[in-house]
Amino acid sequence: MPAVAWFRRDLRLGDNPALSAAAALDGQVVPLFVVDPAVWDPASDVRRAYLVDSLRALDADLDGQLLLQHGDPVEHVVAVARAAGASEVHVAADYGPYGVQRDERVRAALAKQGIELVETGSPYAVAPGRVTKDDGTAYRVYTPFYRAWMRHGWRAPAADVEAEYVMPLECHGYPERPDLPFALPAAGEAAALERWAAFRAAGLTAYDDTRNFPALDGTSSMGHHLKWGEIHPRTILADLGDSAGEETFRKEIAWREFYADVMHQRPESARASMDVRFDDDFAWDSGERADALFEAWAAGRTGYPFVDAGMRQLLAEGWMHNRVRMVVASFLVKDLHLPWQRGAAHFMRWLRDGDLASNSHGWQWTAGCGTDASPYHRVFNPVGQGERFDPNGDYVRRYVPELAHLPGKTAHTPWDTLGGYDHGYPERIVDHAAERLEALDRFAQMKGSPKT
Ligand SMILES: Cc1cc2nc3c(=O)[nH]c(=O)nc-3n(C[C@H](O)[C@H](O)[C@H](O)COP(=O)(O)OP(=O)(O)OC[C@H]3O[C@@H](n4cnc5c(N)ncnc54)[C@H](O)[C@@H]3O)c2cc1C
Repeated sequence: MPAVAWFRRDLRLGDNPALSAAAALDGQVVPLFVVDPAVWDPASDVRRAYLVDSLRALDADLDGQLLLQHGDPVEHVVAVARAAGASEVHVAADYGPYGVQRDERVRAALAKQGIELVETGSPYAVAPGRVTKDDGTAYRVYTPFYRAWMRHGWRAPAADVEAEYVMPLECHGYPERPDLPFALPAAGEAAALERWAAFRAAGLTAYDDTRNFPALDGTSSMGHHLKWGEIHPRTILADLGDSAGEETFRKEIAWREFYADVMHQRPESARASMDVRFDDDFAWDSGERADALFEAWAAGRTGYPFVDAGMRQLLAEGWMHNRVRMVVASFLVKDLHLPWQRGAAHFMRWLRDGDLASNSHGWQWTAGCGTDASPYHRVFNPVGQGERFDPNGDYVRRYVPELAHLPGKTAHTPWDTLGGYDHGYPERIVDHAAERLEALDRFAQMKGSPKT
């Protein structure tokens, strides 16, 4: 009797304990993916396009046996299991706010038919909720979480699966792939493993030194592969040794695990500030001028070169370097006085690695309202950050053609450079020094101490 392997955020065959568990039953597996309107309809074009590419790659790895169904998973998972005569549906546990309640509904519907939903593994090395303090409560600060996560440890990668893949119902086919204004990197498990091997060979040792410089190809670009589970973090962790670069890389993987853990404990933090004063008491700007400033930020036309380069990289590639994500996020919240949720939604629309937990908490960290937050009064200087992390101005010139004529670091200060505005670069939309003081003033007016 076949078992169903229901894929969600684990679009790979290797190191896949849920798939192994499905195959262990009697070797026959129905590999299923449900295109759920609750997830698909609100998804951005970038997300949809990447998902379709990834599903195609998975299907090819399954020799065309991936069964695609469109509609409510409650209906389709049950229908597929019944058509296959399966007694078990295997999944990797989903810890996201929607996934948890969807799986509860599917579990209940399957149970009525005498079919079991079996959870094995998760998209994380250590499942959210497992790393706790001695008193059983969740960590709210990264560094002690990291130490406890290291002590907890994780399993070795799962063995390869031997299975016969079967399709008991008609496949509904791929959803429509939207056209994008840029090419996405290759999707799928083979592409993920290839990228990881290339980064290990060329970038990992120097990661510690290069990761903060956006003009360099100094980071792994594994975010989208991890997001869709084309590679498991355990596979990556198993390859890491103890050099400074590898140590730092492990800590970055741990940030992803920490944020998933926090969101699991506090599902509302996907959209609401952990420090509720930031949603209830803070004097955010709104109205026409605020909307115009938001549009200028989103289009990369703030007049601050490092910010604009980042925002334009996002629109040109569906990706932005981490250092620049922090700077543009700080600029939106502290220079433009707009709520982080507006920026987070824009990021989710454009990022190819858009991930609810990492995105919402990356924003909350920068805004100063999250768990483990950088203090609100630490305001990134958009010019100083540019001069420090793009010392030759190469990153700015790559993404802002109106500044391509300015040599070296003068690209960061067109206002101080003769001919700086000759090619149509916009004037600064706000004065950073003044808005920094304004932000601190509004912060001081917020009542009480942090409420998380
Ligand atoms: C405002 C803001 C929004 C962000 N939104 C996202 C998002 O939607 N999705 C996302 O995956 N990351 C997000 N990050 C974290 C980080 O910027 C990206 O993970 C990283 O830039 C992806 O590029 P990379 O794969 O080359 O990273 P690398 O530097 O090579 O890191 C390797 C992996 O570690 C994880 N990682 C690294 N840094 C972080 C971090 N600070 N938080 C969580 N995980 C991390 C990612 O999975 C990443 O792929 C955000 C950060 C900020 C400041």
